[in-house]
Amino acid sequence: MHASVHGAIGVLVNQTVFSITKDIGVSYVVGNSINVPLHIVLDLIGENNYGGKKAMIMAEVFCFILSMYCIYNDHNSLLLFSGWFFSNLPDIIDKKMYFSILFPDRFKYTYYFHWRNQAKINLTNTQTYLLAVIFSLLIFTL
Ligand SMILES: [Zn+2]
Repeated sequence: MHASVHGAIGVLVNQTVFSITKDIGVSYVVGNSINVPLHIVLDLIGENNYGGKKAMIMAEVFCFILSMYCIYNDHNSLLLFSGWFFSNLPDIIDKKMYFSILFPDRFKYTYYFHWRNQAKINLTNTQTYLLAVIFSLLIFTL
């Protein structure tokens, strides 16, 4: 999955744990302990590239700005941001802060968390766009 969907799910996980426990410390520990392994599971769903690298970067940057706007305006901003961060951590490490996507020659991918091609379900471009939009909008409901 792309960063937008991983991030939105991480935000939702932390918000859900906080809604249940009402304890900020527990929410950080439990939520983010779920978020890292959940990334590996969600990578079983293989995204499409939105129709090209440029389109992918534009769509993902747009979703990132949207997510950060919602996170910033929540009273638990730091908890939600940590959800976004930890749910994307395996990609942030293996894709060298996403520089491997932008400059694949200079920043080689590592496979600490992506040791094989994990995708079992492959999405079309339309499904990839729909998921990004749906999950980015879900953060607005918080
Ligand atoms: Zn990944």
